[in-house]
Amino acid sequence: MMNREALFAAIQTQVEWAAAEAGSFAVIILRVRGLRDIALRFGYAQGELAEDRARVLIEQSMRPMDQVFRAGDDSFALVLPQMRHQNHTLLAATRLIRAFELPMNAGTTPWHGHALMGIALYPHDGIDADALCRHAEMALDDALRRGDQYAFYQPQDKQVEIVHEELRDAIDTNRLRAYFQPVWDLQRHRVAGVESLARWTSEQHGEVSPANFVPFAEQSDLISALTRWSINATLRHAAPLRGAHELTFAINFSPRVFSKPGIVEQLMDALDIWGVAPTSVIAEVTETALVNDLELSLRVLARLRDRGVGIAIDDFGTGYASIAYLRKFPATELKIDQSLIADMRDDMQTAKLVRAIVNMSHHMDLTVVAEGVEDQATQKLLAEMGCDYAQGYHLGRPEPAADFVARFKALPIPSAAEPPASDDA
Ligand code: C2E
Ligand code: CA
Ligand code: CA
Repeated sequence: MMNREALFAAIQTQVEWAAAEAGSFAVIILRVRGLRDIALRFGYAQGELAEDRARVLIEQSMRPMDQVFRAGDDSFALVLPQMRHQNHTLLAATRLIRAFELPMNAGTTPWHGHALMGIALYPHDGIDADALCRHAEMALDDALRRGDQYAFYQPQDKQVEIVHEELRDAIDTNRLRAYFQPVWDLQRHRVAGVESLARWTSEQHGEVSPANFVPFAEQSDLISALTRWSINATLRHAAPLRGAHELTFAINFSPRVFSKPGIVEQLMDALDIWGVAPTSVIAEVTETALVNDLELSLRVLARLRDRGVGIAIDDFGTGYASIAYLRKFPATELKIDQSLIADMRDDMQTAKLVRAIVNMSHHMDLTVVAEGVEDQATQKLLAEMGCDYAQGYHLGRPEPAADFVARFKALPIPSAAEPPASDDA
C-alpha cells in the first residue's frame, strides 16, 4: 500500500543533500485517527474523500519543499528537508496537529480526524530511508502507547545501545576475529579456497554469532565499518598465501553496502595494499536481500565482476525470487543453501532439486558450491552430480584464519591437502 519506492527515493535524495551539507531533515509517519472509520462506516468512496481532505490539510500546513506520501490505510509519510533542530520539527508537528483540530466534511459526512505522529531525524535516528522510516514508525507506536500525539524516536532498548557501542568498539579496535572455513574442490580433491567468517567474543555477552551481530550492524551505521573490517581482515591473512596455492578467498558482503558509495574502490584499494589479485576474491551476496535499489546494487556487482572479482549468490534456494533474479545477477558462482543440502541425503525430491540446480547453474556458466555438507554420503552424491565445490563440517570447520594459513603455508605447492574425512575413509 505504501508507495515505498517513491518515498525511499525522496528520502535518499535528502540523504545525499544533507550528507553533503552536513544538514538534517525529518521523516514523519502521520496517522490520521478516524480516517479508516469513515471508510468502514460510510463506504470506500467517502473514505477516499476524507483521505483527499486530510492530504490537503497536511499540504496546507507544510512548506512547499516538504513532501507527502501515502503510507497505509490511514497514514502518510512526510519528508521535511532542512530541519536543523528538533525544535523546528516540533514546530512542523504542532502545525499538523492544529490543522486537524477543526471538524470537517468528507463529502456530506462530517468527521473529525486526529493527527498522531512518529518522528525520526537524519542523521541522529538513522542514515538511510529504511532506518528512518522504521524509526519513525516505532516512534509512532511509542506515542500511541503513551497517549501522546507525537513522539521523537528513542532507541527502545538501552541494552541495544550498549551492544551497539561495544560492537563499534570491537570493530574499531580490531577485536573481531576472522575464521576461515575450507571450500573443497569435489572434482580435483583439494582445497580450492576458503570462506571468511567473522567471530565476536563480547565481554558482556560471550560468543556472539555473526547470524546475530551482522543483522544488528546492518540496522545501524556499523555495517560500513564491519565491511571494511571483513575485507581487510580477510586479505591480511590471504596475503601470505597469494599466488602459491591458487586459493580463493570468499568474503560475505551485506547486500546493503552495494547501494552505498565507494565499495568498489574500497575493495580495490585493499587488494592493492595487500597485493592480492581480484581474481582470488569472491564476493558473497544473498540475492533476495538486495532490496533497496536493486538496479544500483546489480551495477556495482557488475563493476566488481568486470575487475575480476568473483560474485557468488549466497544461500540460494531459501528465497522466493531466486530464479527470476538469476538472469539479472552478474554472478560467477552459486552457493546452494545448507537447508537443501541437509535434506538431500534422505529425501529424493530434494536430491533431484539439487541436481537440477547444479545443471541449471552449469548451463549458465556458474560454478556451484554446496553448503553445509555434514557427511560422506552427501559429499559423494554431490560429486556424482557434478557439483564443483562443497563446504561443511564434514570437510572442515571454520578455524582461526591464522591457523589455516600456518597449516597451508607448510604444505608443498601445488597443494594436495586431504580433507578430514576422505572418500575412502
Ligand atoms: P553464510 O554465509 O551462509 O555462512 C555459512 C554459515 O554456515 C557459517 O555460519 C558456517 O559456520 C556455517 N556452516 C558451515 N558449515 C556448516 C555445516 O556443515 N553445518 C552447519 N549447520 N553449518 C555450517 P556462521 O559463521 O555462524 O555465519 C553466519 C552468517 O553470518 C553467514 O552465513 C554470513 O551470512 C554472515 N557472516 C559471517 N561473517 C560475516 C562477515 O564478515 N560479514 C558479513 N556481512 N556477514 C558475515
Ligand atoms: Ca556466505
Ligand atoms: Ca550461505
